[in-house]
Amino acid sequence: INAQSSIGSDTMYNVVATLPGKDSLQVILCAHYDAITSTMWTYTPGADDNASGVMGVLEAARIMGTHNWQHTLRFVLFSGEELGLWGSEAYVKDAVEAGDSMIAALNMDMIAYNSDVLPHMDIHCNPSDAASQDMGQMLIELIDIYELDIVPDQHIFDATDRSDHYWFWQYDIPAALLIEDFDDFNPFFHTTNDRLSKLDTAYMAEAVRLALGWAASEAGLVEEPGIRDQALEQPELVSLRLSSAVVHNHLWLEISSPHSLTPVIYDASGQRVKTLETIQGSSGSVRIPIEVSDLPRGVYWITVSAKDSFVSERFVLVR
Ligand SMILES: [Zn+2]
Repeated sequence: INAQSSIGSDTMYNVVATLPGKDSLQVILCAHYDAITSTMWTYTPGADDNASGVMGVLEAARIMGTHNWQHTLRFVLFSGEELGLWGSEAYVKDAVEAGDSMIAALNMDMIAYNSDVLPHMDIHCNPSDAASQDMGQMLIELIDIYELDIVPDQHIFDATDRSDHYWFWQYDIPAALLIEDFDDFNPFFHTTNDRLSKLDTAYMAEAVRLALGWAASEAGLVEEPGIRDQALEQPELVSLRLSSAVVHNHLWLEISSPHSLTPVIYDASGQRVKTLETIQGSSGSVRIPIEVSDLPRGVYWITVSAKDSFVSERFVLVR
């Protein structure tokens, strides 16, 4: 997680995950995660704008993370989009300065509202970049190849630049915006009613399949062992087991590892809540009681990592 922009004394964060490929050329899937309503300081669910796009990025990352790719994948969630594309501005400027080779970027912003029977979806391409327009054509081809239930509308000369793809366009990086039909636009946009109940999740799933198909085509599937397989070469070296997934005041950890390990507990939001004492490596497995009575009830993850192995288990703390 990198700090990328600031307002006053507050810092906002982009969330960036990298899936290394065989080379360092980057294919980017992105979406903004901030949300806004036209009334200040009210409840801002932002289900369509833009939890839908965020979900698309996360789902693509989940699936692509189990395969090896020729090019490097970047899954990027931007902050500050609604305030003026702040997160993407900082991200693209920093990446260009760092010399990142960005092949293409697909931005998902509002991909889940569809009130009519026709599953139209808009693809906005840079009017002054042929590569961006080719990317639009490729997306249309993919709808056909994967037989997706999407009717594409490619926009070039009337394309909108009012989302995070704008900053990729500014640096001539081929980029496109995938967004629901402008002619059937979400009437709950930027209101407290932008909720899941108003969305067409089947339509959204097709959009995510399209984004995933695009990223896979761009990144290139590699059958031979890649970075992920190297990391998993000795998966049995470290193992972690909980005696029960439902825990009251302490949990029993059964662990086997030749290396010393330091278990860490995270809460469901990914915050580290407890770092435990280091456990010495041994040839067999050891059972260790861990006191968690100081934690509030909820869902947690306990993780250990050693060398290239990483294992985690979920538990539910009840009272
Ligand atoms: Zn948006």
